[in-house]
Amino acid sequence: MGAGAAGLWAAQRAGALLRENGRTPDVLLLEKTPRAGTKVLASGGTRCNLTTTLAPQPAAQLFGVAGGRFLKTAFRCLPPVAVREQFLEWGVPTVEAPLEKIFPESGSAKEVRDALVRACEAAGVEIQRGNSVQRVEANGKAWRVILEDESVIEAERLLLAPGGKSYPGSGTTGDGYGWLEELGLDLVPGVPALVPLLSPEKWVHELTGLSVQDAAVRLCDENGQVLGKRERPILFTHRGLSGPGAMDLSHFVARSSAKRGSGAWPGVVDYTMEIDLLPGASREALSEQLRIAATRVGNPSIAKLFADELPRRLVEAACVQAGLERDLCCNVLPKRGRHRLVEVLKGLPVPISGTASFDEAEVTAGGLDLGELDPGSMRVRRFENLFVFGEVIDLDGPIGGLNFQAAFSTAELAARAATSS
Ligand SMILES: Cc1cc2nc3c(=O)[nH]c(=O)nc-3n(C[C@H](O)[C@H](O)[C@H](O)COP(=O)(O)OP(=O)(O)OC[C@H]3O[C@@H](n4cnc5c(N)ncnc54)[C@H](O)[C@@H]3O)c2cc1C
Repeated sequence: MGAGAAGLWAAQRAGALLRENGRTPDVLLLEKTPRAGTKVLASGGTRCNLTTTLAPQPAAQLFGVAGGRFLKTAFRCLPPVAVREQFLEWGVPTVEAPLEKIFPESGSAKEVRDALVRACEAAGVEIQRGNSVQRVEANGKAWRVILEDESVIEAERLLLAPGGKSYPGSGTTGDGYGWLEELGLDLVPGVPALVPLLSPEKWVHELTGLSVQDAAVRLCDENGQVLGKRERPILFTHRGLSGPGAMDLSHFVARSSAKRGSGAWPGVVDYTMEIDLLPGASREALSEQLRIAATRVGNPSIAKLFADELPRRLVEAACVQAGLERDLCCNVLPKRGRHRLVEVLKGLPVPISGTASFDEAEVTAGGLDLGELDPGSMRVRRFENLFVFGEVIDLDGPIGGLNFQAAFSTAELAARAATSS
């Protein structure tokens, strides 16, 4: 149930596998909202970054230690390259883009969504839209699904993919967590992930609209311990930081907010995002560049010296953070100031106080505890014939087609296992 990326993939595969084995494709896909694949339509800025160029193992590793271990079988069973091949077979050729991304050649997320829906129809799947599941109950070895219109569906096997709590406006309001809790299963509290970061600092807000394409970022806690690193673009906003570099590390901040019991975002969290603005240059090289510039005819300002690599206003802000005048010329930069400026250019410290809310989160971190599931089938260990997969389980990956890939791969395993007996 849940006609998102995971539910659509599982339903079409289950229908196709049942047919292949000479059985009736008796698959019903229940969707709360009036349309299927809403998040697919919204994804990748409506271009849908549907998977990655990465091989299965490095792709799985991006889900952290536990997530990577859990996804090993799923990514081997349906690797990114197989997702591309499947979409090609459905008439959706794909293309590679920078940062290991894969998009449909047409640049149309609708084409991806429509292909999934057509595949369901071709496999004999019935999609029932606009009828929300209220409860699920174990009924011996079978399942009872109670719907909003009070009708009850009896099912031999139940496949749950109701998504998380991110982008609640699209229909995902965390309904699945309640059902899983009622069944006595363990959940990891859900927090927003792939979400912009908030900074209380005015100087950060004043840089709104500026981006650094080649940034290398480090998220540090209040003790200076590095929690995560990423080499991805960042964007300054009127509230803090966005862009993949910031969003990929946002789950650390949200998790800590939740642990400290603030329960709301933004919480009061002392984090610092250190941004290496010039990752291609060593400290020594930058220091030397500044020293030589001081002797150059014309005596450029520091901002002008880095004009080819960085926006002027950003270099000026870095000068201020290094305790220098914003429009200082290279020839009046004292040795100590040069040292401080190099440190700031290699790690501009942006204080972080929290994350934006679920309304802006691309995924939910947390969900059904991975220990409740058999990673080879997505079957819930404590129940027969119950399979849970997609965003509702405790898996979240960085930006770059990884989350759709996880949805498709876990759905593939569930469909295979649910139709095998
Ligand atoms: C704006 C945005 C952009 C994104 N871009 C990308 C991207 O480019 N690449 C990428 O890999 N990931 C992207 N993501 C993340 C990606 O959308 C998710 O990882 C993916 O959709 C998860 O799939 P899912 O099927 O598990 O959940 P969902 O897609 O959320 O689907 C769950 C479905 O279940 C339905 N449902 C919920 N409750 C009930 C109920 N009670 N009864 C019946 N049905 C119910 C929902 O309506 C929904 O249709 C993006 C997310 C957002 C919000």
